[in-house]
Amino acid sequence: MAVHAHPDDESSKGAATTARYAAEGVEVLVVTCTGGERGDVLNPSFEVPAGHEFDTIEGRRAVRRLEMAAAAEALGVRQTWLGFVDSGLPEGDPLPPLPEGSFGLLPLDEAAAPLVELVREFRPHVMTTYDPSGGYPHPDHIKCHEVAFEAYQAAGDGTRYVVEGGAEPWEPLKLYYNHGFSMARMRAVHEAMQGAGLESPFGDWIESRAAREIPEREATTHVAVADYFPQRDAALVAHASQIDPDGFFFAVPRDIEADVWPTEEYELADSRVPTSLPEDDLFAGVREGDR
Ligand SMILES: [Zn+2]
Repeated sequence: MAVHAHPDDESSKGAATTARYAAEGVEVLVVTCTGGERGDVLNPSFEVPAGHEFDTIEGRRAVRRLEMAAAAEALGVRQTWLGFVDSGLPEGDPLPPLPEGSFGLLPLDEAAAPLVELVREFRPHVMTTYDPSGGYPHPDHIKCHEVAFEAYQAAGDGTRYVVEGGAEPWEPLKLYYNHGFSMARMRAVHEAMQGAGLESPFGDWIESRAAREIPEREATTHVAVADYFPQRDAALVAHASQIDPDGFFFAVPRDIEADVWPTEEYELADSRVPTSLPEDDLFAGVREGDR
């Protein structure tokens, strides 16, 4: 179960991992907390699909549902919504308050309840989400971490989040944080592009991140996924309102990427089964025969 904040996050964080596990026969469910209703158009060549509009919360939600369905198909995964409303990324100084009713403002128990129930129904062995910082400071990403962590902790406890006629308690075995945008990866790709005489798009990114001295969290688990980069790319392109096919995500030639950085990274946040680090499999210690 991969828990994400907005439609498109599942395609930019750990996408090739989900495609790989789905292809190998694992049941993969992407859970999207919000409908992405406040995401701006980030692709200059985007055209609103016929019969749709992008100027209202409802219109945007409908367009992004279409995009999400195409992305899930490209990855070969199932996907479902928690049904919360995107908080938007507040900008300005001072920051404006979040819109009323948005995901970022909800009390934890209210925001986590549907995910707890979903964990009890779907019964995942492994869950993935973001680290406590959200990976980047979008209020929905931080909230996504909080609800996923809460659901991981609470779903197995039958005295919490009690629902009349609800599913039996279920305790997932491992919780991971996505770590796709590490400095190590960006530096490696940056240097490989310069070495190949290409212009790297990551110079400014690396400098600004280094200047902000964001502490790097440790990746414990490196999943080999280069064979699934095409599925990841198709899923990214499916989010046509959000992803520029000529932009950042596609700036690195795929042969260089597969050569220099053929893995996706995770941090093991908790495990209820024995495992030894570093790992190369999110299901290490979980699969039958390992136990
Ligand atoms: Zn997001």
